[in-house]
Amino acid sequence: MSGNDIMSEEKFYFQSEAAELLKLMISSVYSNRDIFLRELISNASDALDKRRIECLKDSELAENTKPEILITSDSEKKILSVSDNGIGMSKDDLIAYLGTIAKSGTKEFLKAVKNENAENELIGQFGVGFYSVFMVADKVEVLTRKLGSAETYKFVSDGNGSYTIEDAEQRPECGTTVTLYLRHDDKPEDGFKDYSSEWIIREIIEKYSDFISWPVVFKDKIVNSQKAIWQRPDSEVTEEEYKEFYKHLTHDWRDPLTHIKINAEGSTNFKGLLFIPSEAPYDMFMNPESGGINLYINRVFIMNDCKELIPEYLRFIRGVIDSEDLPLNISREILQDEPVTRVIKRSTQRKILVELKKLLSSDREKYIKFWSSFGKILKEGIIKDTEHAKNILEISLFRTTHNDEWTTLAEYESRMKPEQEGVYCLTGSDNLSALKASPKLEAFSEKNLEVLLMTDPVDEWILAQASFVLPEDSKKLLNIARDEVTPYTEDEKKDNEEKLKALDSEFESLKKKALEVLGDKLENVKPSMTLTSSPACIRVPSGGMSIQVECTLRAMGQNVPPQKRILELNANHLIVKKLLEMSKMNDAKVSDVLKTLYDQSMILEGVAPDNPADFVKRIDDLMTLALVK
Ligand code: ADP
Repeated sequence: MSGNDIMSEEKFYFQSEAAELLKLMISSVYSNRDIFLRELISNASDALDKRRIECLKDSELAENTKPEILITSDSEKKILSVSDNGIGMSKDDLIAYLGTIAKSGTKEFLKAVKNENAENELIGQFGVGFYSVFMVADKVEVLTRKLGSAETYKFVSDGNGSYTIEDAEQRPECGTTVTLYLRHDDKPEDGFKDYSSEWIIREIIEKYSDFISWPVVFKDKIVNSQKAIWQRPDSEVTEEEYKEFYKHLTHDWRDPLTHIKINAEGSTNFKGLLFIPSEAPYDMFMNPESGGINLYINRVFIMNDCKELIPEYLRFIRGVIDSEDLPLNISREILQDEPVTRVIKRSTQRKILVELKKLLSSDREKYIKFWSSFGKILKEGIIKDTEHAKNILEISLFRTTHNDEWTTLAEYESRMKPEQEGVYCLTGSDNLSALKASPKLEAFSEKNLEVLLMTDPVDEWILAQASFVLPEDSKKLLNIARDEVTPYTEDEKKDNEEKLKALDSEFESLKKKALEVLGDKLENVKPSMTLTSSPACIRVPSGGMSIQVECTLRAMGQNVPPQKRILELNANHLIVKKLLEMSKMNDAKVSDVLKTLYDQSMILEGVAPDNPADFVKRIDDLMTLALVK
């Protein structure tokens, strides 16, 4: 073989998840097939952005051709192609980007499709990008040459598990051409259109890609207006256009929940168009990269996922910020130190919080949707952003014992009894129904006192820090898992002390036994003044570390010293009454019952017994006793 010979084609197999996804695309009956063209144009536009940035960094790479996206079609042969002179792809890129799916949410997506049998809905929720071409084509060819490289490759696939890559005749310049051999025996009632037809192509581009900042050329004419949507007055932009822009920007196929426009004029000028996604993307919590703000300077795309412009607790916000006050050649490092960056960040976060507050009062249903997806993240701001902690707490929603709805703190406060020292909160399990059944609520429900139920791990930290970050006149947040927080008035507390004293001698031998058996876990054992129906519960001593914080820290690999807690026993409960009698007689079963009560109380806190086998054996023995009797 001479050196000039074209390499024979090499066959590759799609990564198994990619193959599965492709199969889904081919058989899909997703009705909105048009979007494949949006995806291709969007990819071409990204490729042109990338080329521009590379050329800025290294002027030798610059080519003379004008950047553009060229669409051609042949309605007889049923062929459609989208061509760009953007960054292009190397052979490795082709394998990595088109042969594999790097998105971390893919597994969850495929699982969800299988479990819910809801592929159409889910395709709409999960950007399948390039693969969407297989909804309309039975063969796809990608001809590509990477910027700065002489090699051109041809990637061909019919979507059936494998693809080939071969060397191809050199493209005159870098870029990519995607050619679709359209399926043409499918029925229009299944959502198929003739995608080689001129007016259909024109219609789709106008609808979905008008704002693309590079020229989209079809039949020798530029078909998109290329207007930066965030520069246009709000009154001129339709809701539909915002939605399409959002989809282009984020590769999310769902409509955004809402958009926020910023028009800052003064010492620092910038415009912003921000979106709140309708739901957290599949990989939101696993992949912090999936959020982000794109920075433009004077309508020119500079960089994506610009963390410097938005605080971490707003990382679910997507959108564009365009400033005139930054130099075009700015790098991430310089951006960090730019005073302008700080100004933009401050006013952006303030604006977002103001808009969220407005949304809460104007459209509660929408706000609840937002909160269910992103509340956990937003709440991190209460801890991390002392300046805005109060504002974030104001727009935070909580579950409550009052009803099954969400409540704000202000709404809770409006229902507070005058004698309440503060806002009663209960943290514990991340499972709402488990939390609702907590024995710690017994005394509060008896007195008809409302308690906020806090199920997110971050709530623990909020409670721990609230007193430091909130203004002095705010109502105190009181965690009822703590020993010192009770629903009682001063008089009642005095009464309780009397009662406790009276029970002292009664409990003496039981307490001694309990500390002997569980001394490494318990600091104290005492009669409960709050339990009314359960026999026992665990409390955190004043100043002690909460059980959930301990678990979180351990899960993070930190070396937490053993924490001792308080075991409260309900002296009116039959088990405890019996236990008191038995302990006086030194009954051998006392220690087993104590251990079991302790384990059960911890289970209610969401913590499994240290020794499950031992726990099960004790329960078995007790059941045997009960059943045999
Ligand atoms: P997404 O665009 O959401 O990342 P796609 O499946 O559409 O997913 O594309 C996968 C990757 O393939 C892109 O991220 C990009 O790196 C590469 N790619 C696709 N089309 C082009 C193109 N026209 N030019 C250069 N790279 C491309």
